[in-house]
Amino acid sequence: MPKSDKSFVKEITPQSEDFSRWYIDVIRRADLMDYAPVRGCIVFKPDGYALWEACQQELDRRFKETGHRNAYFPLFIPESFFQKEKEHVEGFNPELPWVTEAGGEKLEERLAVRPTSETIIGHMYAQWIQSYRDLPVLINQWANVVRWEKRTLPFLRTSEFLWQEGHTAHATAEEAIAETEQMLNIYTDFVENFLAIPVFKGQKTPLEKFAGAVSTYSIEALMKDGKALQAATSHYLGQNFAKGFEIQFLDKDNERKYVHTTSWGISTRILGALIMVHGDDRGLALPPKIAPTQVMIIPIGPQKERERVVTHAKDLLKRISKRNIRVQMDANEDTSPGWKFNEYEMRGIPIRLEVGPRDMDAGQVVLVRRDTGDKQAIAIDKLEETVEQLLTDIQQNMYRKAKQFAEENSRIAASFTELDDIIQNQRGFVLAGWCGDNVCELTIKEKTGATSRNIPFEPPTHLQTCVVCGSEAKHSVWYAKSY
Ligand code: AMP
Repeated sequence: MPKSDKSFVKEITPQSEDFSRWYIDVIRRADLMDYAPVRGCIVFKPDGYALWEACQQELDRRFKETGHRNAYFPLFIPESFFQKEKEHVEGFNPELPWVTEAGGEKLEERLAVRPTSETIIGHMYAQWIQSYRDLPVLINQWANVVRWEKRTLPFLRTSEFLWQEGHTAHATAEEAIAETEQMLNIYTDFVENFLAIPVFKGQKTPLEKFAGAVSTYSIEALMKDGKALQAATSHYLGQNFAKGFEIQFLDKDNERKYVHTTSWGISTRILGALIMVHGDDRGLALPPKIAPTQVMIIPIGPQKERERVVTHAKDLLKRISKRNIRVQMDANEDTSPGWKFNEYEMRGIPIRLEVGPRDMDAGQVVLVRRDTGDKQAIAIDKLEETVEQLLTDIQQNMYRKAKQFAEENSRIAASFTELDDIIQNQRGFVLAGWCGDNVCELTIKEKTGATSRNIPFEPPTHLQTCVVCGSEAKHSVWYAKSY
């Protein structure tokens, strides 16, 4: 593709025509990212990075409220560290990039560029933890990680991505499991209430769990094209890493014991979910809580009235921003109001405020909602409270719409034929009975292309038989085609 075509998308492909194309068109047109010269890597442009910063702030606050502190560990991990936990090395080996040479010399030991930090953090915790008094250790790290992915898609799956990884160590299994659950609940609260994305909560099957974990909990979300996306994970690592790295402590009963560890992460993938859950044919649609700009004021009207209108609009801007609402004005005369309406709709700004000479004379302004397109004229003396109320309504409505879509697209299958039919023809989430055998899970993957997403903690129903082998079901599992 010639560079000019690639870097500037004029039209956004309709979702119904080609969802993947729509996604790429939107993120490029909204200027969120650019492709990097290295395959699978992206540049987060300021408008895209601002969304990640908003996520960071919200999450960081929740982590700190629950007693966690931030630290930073090195990017490079000695190869020998990976050998200390067998499942971990097997799981991550295919995706590891290695540094073999530095400063013009071949290294004695290869260094992995971190794909996740359990190993290096385990190594450090072994030195920091001696006694029960040193526990729990509650640390989080904001960092970049690298996983050499074969298939990549901006935000959703990149070779280098940004994330946070929490790593905690506890005296008992119960405490560590409670931590794992607490962090899953924090992710759920953040994704549902801040990003307005409903999630499916549950536990991963052994085949899908994190390499080296005893159990992995996940939240999964449904994209508008009917595909699932793993939005965040929280792992109970048991004593696997404690044994690999000799993380022991002297307990109150004077016995040396291995700690129980957890890890949990959410990545820039979540921005892909935000775009794919709320966006439409007009472009991005941002829930008010995450929108860097919540209200865009656009002065309109003939040139001779310009000064009067712009002065008035500036006054409105001041009034609104006093309420801690993120508001901006575009009084640029080089572009038309029509162009601006489209542009800010495409950028997903929740509310557009139009003001012209006639509105001024009538003591009103016009507010337009991005989520519904509804337009309303409101009295100027009700401005602040109406805007506040509208932002709350939009946030709730966006969640409601996404929730309704998720509900309408989650189904129950009583047989393999039914499961296959739904996966091929309707997509979305399908709940089916599973006996607990890896072979049955793999059969579904091979024959339908869907993978198990998770075993819901509270399934809508308890299914009795495994849809593959017909024997008694141990669990009801969500399956879906996924990103
Ligand atoms: P994990 O360490 O595999 O449990 O992943 C932690 C978080 O990072 C999860 O929310 C994953 O969905 C996300 N994630 C995993 N691989 C990638 C990737 N290649 N690009 C972006 N996010 C990822």
